[in-house]
Amino acid sequence: MEAGEDPWFQFRRCKRGMVTGFVMWFPVTILSSFASLFLLGTDLLAGACGGATVVYATWHMFRLSQLRCPRCGERFFDRGGAPFLQRCTHCGVRKYGDI
Ligand SMILES: [Zn+2]
Repeated sequence: MEAGEDPWFQFRRCKRGMVTGFVMWFPVTILSSFASLFLLGTDLLAGACGGATVVYATWHMFRLSQLRCPRCGERFFDRGGAPFLQRCTHCGVRKYGDI
């Protein structure tokens, strides 16, 4: 689905990036550790790869917290709301609901 058709496109995209980053942290770290030890003889690459996935997830979580509500235009998760809230903190529209 294109960004112009779905008003919740950016929300889904940022949430997907955040979840993917946090879920992939452990397997990426383990696999890069094995690969790094096998190829380079050190596990420095594991720390870099694991850190990169955490930075990726944190960046998407930050972007999610900055998104504006498609209905009222205010920040959706304003007033200290976590990115897991289901309603806009200003107008009360449900996340992924009809505008
Ligand atoms: Zn709103």
